[in-house]
Amino acid sequence: MENVVVIGSGCAGWTAALYTARAGLAPLVLTGGQPGGLLTTTTIVENYPGFPDGVDGYELMTRMQKQAERFGARTKFGTLEAADLSKRPFALTVDGGRAETQTVIIATGASHRHLGLKNEQLLENKGVTYCATCDGALPMFRNQPLVVVGGGDSACEEALYLTRFGSVIHLIHRRDTLRASKIMAQRALSNPKIKPLWDSVVTDVLDAAQDKVTGVRVKNVKTGAETELACAGVFVAIGHLPNTQIFKGQISLDENGYIVPAKGASTNVAGVFVAGDCADYVYRQAVTAAGMGCAAAIEAERFLAAQG
Ligand code: NAP
Repeated sequence: MENVVVIGSGCAGWTAALYTARAGLAPLVLTGGQPGGLLTTTTIVENYPGFPDGVDGYELMTRMQKQAERFGARTKFGTLEAADLSKRPFALTVDGGRAETQTVIIATGASHRHLGLKNEQLLENKGVTYCATCDGALPMFRNQPLVVVGGGDSACEEALYLTRFGSVIHLIHRRDTLRASKIMAQRALSNPKIKPLWDSVVTDVLDAAQDKVTGVRVKNVKTGAETELACAGVFVAIGHLPNTQIFKGQISLDENGYIVPAKGASTNVAGVFVAGDCADYVYRQAVTAAGMGCAAAIEAERFLAAQG
């Protein structure tokens, strides 16, 4: 029987693990399919306090894991397949195995949002990708025109990163102003390799018949005009969806699937706590996720203490 199972291994998950470990609860951390979470797909993180020169996203997550494990957190690589939160102890199924636990901290984060185009799916990993850091350096993208879709910080970051590899980066955004923070927008728009294409949406990815990306079809949302733009890669950076489907019907979710905390880090189920991007569509920062992980851990610890 576990005291605490932390579901997810991003900033929220590892911070929850660190605090519950230091409380002597020997938490079990289920990593999920992307150990370290979305931050491992970022290059340099410049806004996590304590790192004046920035820190590589993967390194930051590895450090968090080490820190939690130093105090007794245990790591289980695997994906949660089912969760029965209807009664305590809660029952979790992970890669065919079963775990029982007194408390659960949900820190499952969020995944990349897709454009929803048929050829986007057909050409995934054949030129369509959701992570410049992971795929940008591939030979197929070298000295080629590339497309980044989106207008937020992620899109700017992806576009900037890709300037190392591509010949030109077309930044396609559905409005005429970026949503990104001023500093990121400024960096992107002042880079001579990045060409913004405003008021435009990608309506198709070409060419499924050739089994590789050769271009995109783009529609101007103001004029309705459609054009084709040649490119070797499409990097989709249009935000995220919370990884909460597995809890639907048990944990209160809002209309977009984000977990609705009942009070602080607690949920509608006593003994189940939540932290990070699966419950936060407002701040979505590494440091806020870590803070929420800390809060969830303290609440789980107090809950267990109150049970006697
Ligand atoms: P985001 O801020 O939600 O931006 C998503 C972008 O995609 C928006 O520009 C949105 O357009 C566009 N979009 C959404 N759905 C679309 C669709 N179906 N078709 C076309 N465009 C679509 O997401 P994000 O950029 O991933 O950033 C998430 C959070 O992480 C933010 O808080 C951000 O500040 C933070 N972040 C920070 C850094 C950094 O500091 N280095 C890096 C990455 C992310 P609209 O603008 O029209 O809504």
